[in-house]
Amino acid sequence: MADSPSHLRLIGYWWSPDDPELPRPHDWVDPGWSPEERDLLALYLESGLRAPYAAAGFSLCRMCEKTNGNSEFTDGVFLWPQGLAHYVREHSVRLPDEIIRRARQWAEPTNWETDLTWWKEQKARE
Ligand SMILES: [Zn+2]
Repeated sequence: MADSPSHLRLIGYWWSPDDPELPRPHDWVDPGWSPEERDLLALYLESGLRAPYAAAGFSLCRMCEKTNGNSEFTDGVFLWPQGLAHYVREHSVRLPDEIIRRARQWAEPTNWETDLTWWKEQKARE
């Protein structure tokens, strides 16, 4: 029996004539953003789980035209294009606080609650 589908919130896609309701990265640039937090978020975005497919082609950065990735990453909650870290690190595009909080939580393993109970109950296959 297949598991039910994972619900992932798609982020990091930007305005285009076909998607006029999406945000523009230029509007989210924060030149005064703390470099420490910016770099942490970029590292988080680069450390996601790579999706098992590639997009049809490489995307281009909307701000500097650089080739900017052709895959997607997930953390189990969000799904984002590979190039999102570039917007954060190189252009100081500040993502919503909810995503920054996830990065901060990830960056501090003392915030992690871990539990070995399930693993201890597992048995080798007969
Ligand atoms: Zn760029």
